[in-house]
Amino acid sequence: MNITVCNPLLRTPLSLIVDDSCPVINLTYYWIHQRHAWKARHQPNIAPERWEGDTIQLKKIPPTIPADFAWEWAEWCWENGVKGKFSLIPYPAGIGRVDEGFPDFPTREYQAWLRIYRELIWPSFDLTPEMLTHTAVVDLDTFTLTEAWEQVEWVDPPVDNRLTDYIIIAMEMLDNVGIPCEGVTSPGAFGKRQEAAYARAVLTASQHVNNNPRPFYFLWLKHDELPDVPIWYPDKEKGVAIASIVSCAGDWFGGWTGYDLGDADRFITEDLQGGCLPPILEKELPCVLVGHWPGFYFNGEKSGFEILKTVKARLDAYDPDGTKTLWMKNSEIGHYWMARELTKLTVMEEPPQIHLSTQFPTANFTLALDTPVRHIQVNGWDLREVHSRRDFQTDTFLVEGKQTFVAFDLEVGKTELELIVA
Ligand SMILES: [Zn+2]
Repeated sequence: MNITVCNPLLRTPLSLIVDDSCPVINLTYYWIHQRHAWKARHQPNIAPERWEGDTIQLKKIPPTIPADFAWEWAEWCWENGVKGKFSLIPYPAGIGRVDEGFPDFPTREYQAWLRIYRELIWPSFDLTPEMLTHTAVVDLDTFTLTEAWEQVEWVDPPVDNRLTDYIIIAMEMLDNVGIPCEGVTSPGAFGKRQEAAYARAVLTASQHVNNNPRPFYFLWLKHDELPDVPIWYPDKEKGVAIASIVSCAGDWFGGWTGYDLGDADRFITEDLQGGCLPPILEKELPCVLVGHWPGFYFNGEKSGFEILKTVKARLDAYDPDGTKTLWMKNSEIGHYWMARELTKLTVMEEPPQIHLSTQFPTANFTLALDTPVRHIQVNGWDLREVHSRRDFQTDTFLVEGKQTFVAFDLEVGKTELELIVA
């Protein structure tokens, strides 16, 4: 008997990454202001480049994004089953700390934002810091902003304790408001030239602050290769590892700026044939989409949010009965891939049994067996047989021709499947 680990519930993971989100303020407004001020100090004779923001557009950008919009957006995601990752920049642009408040803005906005993060967004999205400010690097001794930028100079960050300490502070600020984060997001290309040290620093910080041995980070958006979920520093005995969540599609909602309107067709066209997602869905590889919070808001016009609604409607049309795709948080994808790669599977022929041993738990662990089966027990519990992929869920099995698919939540330690072959 041959066994293979399949996608969870035989469905291709979908996930939405939202970057540059933070309570109260509009990061883009401060990012462009601070970048242009930095330019005036350091390169007074060089005009800002396109990636540094547009002075004329800046006039249209409001300094805040209201909690009301976050409520509307998050409620829509909840009702429509969209899951993923949502940034919570802990000290955005150095304007206010998430664990202290934003003194120059109404307290009720800050309180409303925290409530929405905890109650409405968190159930469907991992919340991560996107380093500390997403603008200038913070001097941790004085807690003042330096002249270095998180996503410029710290593309190649110091690889000693300073990097780990920086991530620890970011994670602690979220923890201070009752949010033990599942991982981190890189602001821009933060850490990209030292990925091994960066991955190690995130793993160390996550264990230190949250006692979480299996975090993830989001650093890469790759349009030119098929997506994968790289796992770094796996320790099979201790159940420690860190996943790199790689996006294959974006930033085509409203841009990071909130004035660069994207297009749903770049994700998936109305006939469901074009765009970058269909070939990846066809190969059943994880589809992680990226957008930016100011882009969904689009200076109050919500145009990026409308593109999200169109993309979601098309993905629903691609999978009308929900048998082909599964919306997941980033952390759920990371945990699934760890289990997939780091679980020991042993097949016993007589009587037919499968023994699994792992320190990497996951929901919806799904196996394919190359033989039809009449009855399956997992650790002594009978699984229910279902007769369609639509009904296939955790704790069930499905026979299709000469194959059997079985799904269950994989727990730490040993799991025994006993089979009665048809
Ligand atoms: Zn960002």
